[in-house]
Amino acid sequence: MTTYAEFHQRSLTDRDGFWGEQAKLVDWKVQPTQVCDYSNPPFAKWFVGGVTNLCHNAVDRHLVTRPDQAALIFVSTETNQEKVYSFRELHAEVQRMAATLKELGVGKGDRVLIYMPMIPEAAFAMLACTRIGAIHSVVFGGFASGSLASRIEDAAPKVVVSADAGSRGGKAVAYKPLLDEALRLSKFKPESVLLVDRGMAPMEMVAGRDKLWAPLREKNMNVVVPCEWVDATHPSYTLYTSGTTGKPKGVQRDTGGYAVALAASMKHIYCGEAGETYFSTSDIGWVVGHSYIIYGPLIAGMATIMYEGLPIRPDGGIWWSLIEKYKVTVMFSAPTAIRVLKKQDPALLKKYDLSSLKALFLAGEPLDQPTAQWISEGLGRPIVDNYWQTETGWPILAISKGVDDAPTKFGSPGKAVYGYNVKLLDESTGEELTGANQKGVVAIEGPLPPGCLQTVWGDDARFVSTYWTTIPGRMIYSTFDWGIRDEDGYYFILGRTDDVINVAGHRLGTREIEESISAHPNVAEVAVVGVADQLKGQVAMAFAVVKDASKIPDDASKLALEGEIMKIVDKDLGAVARPARVRFVTLLPKTRSGKCLRRAITAVCEGRDPGDLTTMDDPAALQQIKDLVAAK
Ligand code: ATP
Ligand code: MG
Repeated sequence: MTTYAEFHQRSLTDRDGFWGEQAKLVDWKVQPTQVCDYSNPPFAKWFVGGVTNLCHNAVDRHLVTRPDQAALIFVSTETNQEKVYSFRELHAEVQRMAATLKELGVGKGDRVLIYMPMIPEAAFAMLACTRIGAIHSVVFGGFASGSLASRIEDAAPKVVVSADAGSRGGKAVAYKPLLDEALRLSKFKPESVLLVDRGMAPMEMVAGRDKLWAPLREKNMNVVVPCEWVDATHPSYTLYTSGTTGKPKGVQRDTGGYAVALAASMKHIYCGEAGETYFSTSDIGWVVGHSYIIYGPLIAGMATIMYEGLPIRPDGGIWWSLIEKYKVTVMFSAPTAIRVLKKQDPALLKKYDLSSLKALFLAGEPLDQPTAQWISEGLGRPIVDNYWQTETGWPILAISKGVDDAPTKFGSPGKAVYGYNVKLLDESTGEELTGANQKGVVAIEGPLPPGCLQTVWGDDARFVSTYWTTIPGRMIYSTFDWGIRDEDGYYFILGRTDDVINVAGHRLGTREIEESISAHPNVAEVAVVGVADQLKGQVAMAFAVVKDASKIPDDASKLALEGEIMKIVDKDLGAVARPARVRFVTLLPKTRSGKCLRRAITAVCEGRDPGDLTTMDDPAALQQIKDLVAAK
């Protein structure tokens, strides 16, 4: 038996041998001749000489063994639809979409921008693109015209695929007017717009440019569109980072490396088996949606659930009911969603038979202990925190359950995942920290493993200058997150490098202060930021959401609560970490993917312009903070 440490070690010391073996998990038209070409660092080329296709691996190859098994399970609690597509049916739908895109002039290497709600046609469009070698660029359906326009300009797509409307909380949200406005704003104009009409909002069609999907699908009912075999290094898609820290970066992904990385992760990390059901609650607009709603589970021959709707509608038991109904074995969500569910009746967790579930994976933001504990006790299943980025496409830190029976530790997303040569670097000197329990910047020595970004779309120079630093003879990728590794090799993420604050010469992670404040029984959520201070350089400011908003009606109780919270921080971390103020709000400003926009809070507190807010969810949250700051 190899231990996980040996497994991980081998992935680095015998890199090509290791990944050459993993490459057998996917189908190749032509086998690669070289596993990794790293002759031009930091650009890594994986599986050089290999020829393959992502859609073939996700769909076609399962037609032989499991044609009638469920592939895509669409559930919408917005429109009350539920439809299961077998691999055979998915194959047919993808070919209809592929034929349509080809008729609209899309060929290998052309970009297709997908601006869609969570409906099956979005999945068909993604798979149709990779089928014909086109590069998809999915833009989250919740974005408005401005953000959409800048992404259209960056991707320069030949075709945009969209729909009349999405839906949120039972209300239709028209997409077409937003798209039309974005196309007006964008300097780049696509040739065609392909529209799915859900019958939810009227659409004004632009003659010559806009086409309806239904008649084109009808026309191509029995069409056969073979997969376009592409080089392993052929780009499969571009996708923008969440924009938490600034202007989103267009991540470019390859084909072969991505397929292998996902297939390997399904085996070693998520432990999903062909024939089982995977349920990821993310959105196709984010990287989790790409890797673990669409490609990962399908490559593994699993059925995947695509869910349109809120986690609490019709009630907070809806997700658990889907686990029971579809015998979900692997579930993937985000801490922010679990915090929403935590406010619901806990009895909902006990109402359904969850015995099929092997584990719940959570990623995207720090998993605070109270949330982890609540869900772990409620489910009675392992909760696996995993840490990664849009850039990497799959986990950097996790417990690789398929090879590692080590326990999880609360607050830690686990150990360095195989393939990743994770380092902690001293923030000021850039030198590697080798000892246990030292705080540093989480970094990865190149080459990045298969599946990670090839470059920033259209901007190799930005890729190099944004992410890479050189220490003699080696190139190191920075995650811009700050972390610590304990003596057992478990990492703890302490926040983003931007979130480190310096109070009177003491360096503090805002995450540590947040963890401490979260321990107060009446705090549901909190954001701590560093704010410039003439005396101390910076001071910590906390904005907390109380669990029961009715309990902070008057100023006196607010003050009392503030005092209690400060005492907790004093006790946990020392008076130096005590926030200058703890203010109370009903919600925190977040990105559409649920990440707290601390940089915007800091800017508002310092009276500065909050910068690019295109990915912000509800502007009312930032307004509350503005009002508090203005009132002092
Ligand atoms: P941008 O790069 O545009 O500022 P972003 O970093 O939020 O946006 P993503 O790629 O969606 O975009 O998020 C990755 C980041 O999310 C990580 O760098 C880290 O800060 C945070 N993160 C992800 N998973 C975890 C986790 N398990 N624990 C703690 N933080 C996490
Ligand atoms: Mg980032």
